[in-house]
Amino acid sequence: MPILRLPGLIDPHVHLRDPGATHKEDFLTGTRAALAGGFTLLLDMPNNPGAPVVSHESLQAKIEAAQSKIVCDVGLYYGATPHNSPTYSEVAAQVFGLKLYLDHTTGDLKIEDLEVIRDVMRAWPREKPLLVHAEDRTVAMVLGLIQLLGRGAHFCHVSERVEIELIRDAKERGLPVTCEVAPHHLYLTEDDVPRLEGFGIMKPPLKRRADVDALWANLDVVDMIATDHAPHTVSEKQAGNPPFGVPGLETSLPLMLTAVHDGRLSLDRIVEMMYTAPVRIFRTPYQPDTYVEVDTSHRWTITTAGLQTRCGWTPFEGMDVTGAVRSVTLRGSEVARDGEITARPGTGRVVSPVA
Ligand SMILES: [Zn+2]
Repeated sequence: MPILRLPGLIDPHVHLRDPGATHKEDFLTGTRAALAGGFTLLLDMPNNPGAPVVSHESLQAKIEAAQSKIVCDVGLYYGATPHNSPTYSEVAAQVFGLKLYLDHTTGDLKIEDLEVIRDVMRAWPREKPLLVHAEDRTVAMVLGLIQLLGRGAHFCHVSERVEIELIRDAKERGLPVTCEVAPHHLYLTEDDVPRLEGFGIMKPPLKRRADVDALWANLDVVDMIATDHAPHTVSEKQAGNPPFGVPGLETSLPLMLTAVHDGRLSLDRIVEMMYTAPVRIFRTPYQPDTYVEVDTSHRWTITTAGLQTRCGWTPFEGMDVTGAVRSVTLRGSEVARDGEITARPGTGRVVSPVA
């Protein structure tokens, strides 16, 4: 039974729903799910329903909501609106990047006006990450703008063949772009939607087999694996017009370890995509004596039983995987073992990027 030790993993893209929609998830249940999945640091997105993080006050409120509840470390992103660029200088040092929503998603942070988009890209500090939700032709628009403005961008949840090919071309031309891919876009296709119904609805949507194949074929230009953990309740997902998003914190590492077992990926690449690259690109602080022990040969079937996320379901239910989290140690203390989360609320820290 080969037990391997990996660094505490980092998920650079989660929606813990706190504050605003804590019936779906909160900082405690979300960070418990993180530990169960081998993550010791999460970077949380700003589009909280009804409570977007778009001002100094809403940022402080989110920090306060997190502090007493979290069991792993959490960092925050800031959201761009058409009018909040004057606040950037107050918040930039506290957050890991600015999120710019350019295509349809949860919340109402989408910006369509080209002049506003350009001005946001200009106003956010050039040395700080600018994260974009950009799909299809919007990827090309962002690539054009950043060349003209002389800045970089991080593309969230790349899901389409043309997107990853454009990002490859941009990197080959030396543009300072980075990108992430979510496990659901690597392991599910649009053919799974009839079976999953509402539980297969997310943004960007599940794509064609050809897109999924292109993501695997271009995995060498993918900087990070990000879960885009976006929980909703079972009843919300079963209703007509289900909200967008799926949970992913507890299934991401087992799915990626399965790719190693299947010979599609090396363990070194997992560490690079789920630890080294987020550290480098988002300047996350070092977590001393922090590591995850994984059993790389343990075969099991993903079920909803024992899930830590409040939403209590997974789109990967019934999938056979090889690789499991055995234990998690955070700053010298064991905080999880064999699915038991032993960390007390408040064990985690709200962190800021390294200066
Ligand atoms: Zn997201």
